[in-house]
Amino acid sequence: MAEVELDFLGDLRRTHTCGQLRATDAGNRTLLMGWVHRRRDLGGLIFIHLRDRDGITQLVFDESKNPAAHKRAQELSSEFVIAVEGQVELRSPDTVNPAIATGEIEAAVAKLWILNESRTPPFPLEDSVDVKEDIRLKYRYVDLRRPRMQRNIIMRSNIAFAVRQALYAQGFLEIETPFMTRSTPEGARDYLVPSRVQPGSFYALPQSPQIFKQLLMVSGYERYFQIVRCFRDEDLRADRQPEFTQIDLEMSFPQEEQIFEVIERLIWGVCEAAGAEVEKNIPRITYEQAMRSYGSDKPDMRIPPFYCVEDLFAGTGLTTEGLPLVAIHVPKTGQLSRKERDEIKAFGQERGLRVFDDMKRLERDHAEALAKVRERVKPAEDDLLMLAGWAGEKKGALPEYTVLQACGQLRLYIAQKYNDRHKLLDANTFKFLWVIDFPMFEWDEDEKRWNAAHHPFTSVLDGDLEKLTSDPAHCRARSYDLVLNGIELGSGSIRIHRRDVQTKVFAALGFSEEEARRRFGFLLEALEYGAPPHGGIALGLDRLVMILAGENSIREVIPFPKTAKGTDLMCEAPSAVPDRQLRELGIKILGHE
Ligand code: ASP
Repeated sequence: MAEVELDFLGDLRRTHTCGQLRATDAGNRTLLMGWVHRRRDLGGLIFIHLRDRDGITQLVFDESKNPAAHKRAQELSSEFVIAVEGQVELRSPDTVNPAIATGEIEAAVAKLWILNESRTPPFPLEDSVDVKEDIRLKYRYVDLRRPRMQRNIIMRSNIAFAVRQALYAQGFLEIETPFMTRSTPEGARDYLVPSRVQPGSFYALPQSPQIFKQLLMVSGYERYFQIVRCFRDEDLRADRQPEFTQIDLEMSFPQEEQIFEVIERLIWGVCEAAGAEVEKNIPRITYEQAMRSYGSDKPDMRIPPFYCVEDLFAGTGLTTEGLPLVAIHVPKTGQLSRKERDEIKAFGQERGLRVFDDMKRLERDHAEALAKVRERVKPAEDDLLMLAGWAGEKKGALPEYTVLQACGQLRLYIAQKYNDRHKLLDANTFKFLWVIDFPMFEWDEDEKRWNAAHHPFTSVLDGDLEKLTSDPAHCRARSYDLVLNGIELGSGSIRIHRRDVQTKVFAALGFSEEEARRRFGFLLEALEYGAPPHGGIALGLDRLVMILAGENSIREVIPFPKTAKGTDLMCEAPSAVPDRQLRELGIKILGHE
């Protein structure tokens, strides 16, 4: 770095931020501090855009008026940190800049302090410049200065504030729970923290505060929430982070609807804070309906549903006994070419579907049935309508869901492919949805056993208790998801508050009493000390902010995220540790195959 003589901050105080000054301030003194965003040197006049979190103010250094300040301004480069004192002046009409809030004025600088210099930034701070993500993450402190990141991180803070406001207003208490604890029940691997004073013992970082929040209900706090970090050691698929943030809450004596109301108030507050317009009416559909209408448990409601029409085609050879035949409808795709149709068919075939796209032929062979399909679906002239059924053998514990899911993927694929025509998947349209009555269990094909679809503390629908053992595939849970634009924002459930029911559920999951006691004994015991009915939910803050900020990755709304491999490129974590530290912990590294 070039040698620049630096000044002390001394007792200087800002009078304004860089986003504050307006025409009405003209004539007043101002003292501003910030970063040199851009510098234009016209010889006798130097213009600087001074930037802070709040905005940009133009500074003018005029050699004829303040030669000393002008001379020092020649030393300034991008990202130097300075303080200036001067007078607010109106710009001449032809130099007014309507693009910035302070565009009617500029500050004529009388004094300049250079508080710190800066190396040339590794990339320009303009949003328009495309920078490789690795470089952005290595210099994240510079990246976070870019307008897009500033907007996202500030929006995140505003959203967190709105969450707190909404929940405090509804009688929730913000209560912390431990990060160093023992295994929690969300089904991922735990991150472990070795204990030095008890060598060979480990804490687990919580996958969620699930057990603690239930214990807080047993303790009588009635309404708890926390904006809390959760840790899950998963193979990092696409857009996952090993640590992520949830808006976690729990209530005593709730009906599902009361939980929905709490969350809806929160959502309206959050959307207002983010400047997002939403309809104040969130539909509720059951898991079964979601699968039968969208082929997904997190349907994107910006696209219309599909229809199961196997009843209309019974005995035609188009259907497979006991499996759905689906009419897929995507509006305004226009006429598709042969090639486009083949691509769609190939996508369906890869997922086991048989796609019937030849409407003329269907018309000829099944005129009556097709007329009824049209009656149900009501497609417009330039909409796409196709039928899809199953091509092969029945698969999975619930084969009809395998078919519906494949159809759901096909529906989404077509909708995404032609979004530039129908524009339904607009980032500024926000469609929330509650999906309720999820199945209690999920079949694990590898382990050949049932797992809890949510977690093992979830209640069963009152009428389905019998099915716990007799028909686990159709046993429904009192669990629900909040979905936004096809993304699951969060899940929750009414919990089991009775020890006897919890024992039955553990048994259905194949946990021995011994194993249940070893893993969750303290919770089981707590249920014996007057546990009230309770339930709750956790929403992913990162995803919520991502969608409201119009981003496609949660990394864009997390200040210091990790890569897909779980690496922090800036501080180079995870890293090896000195042998001495390992010895103290009684740990020996064996290496990996
Ligand atoms: N602990 C659950 C989760 O993290 C949420 C809940 O059941 O409240 O998904």
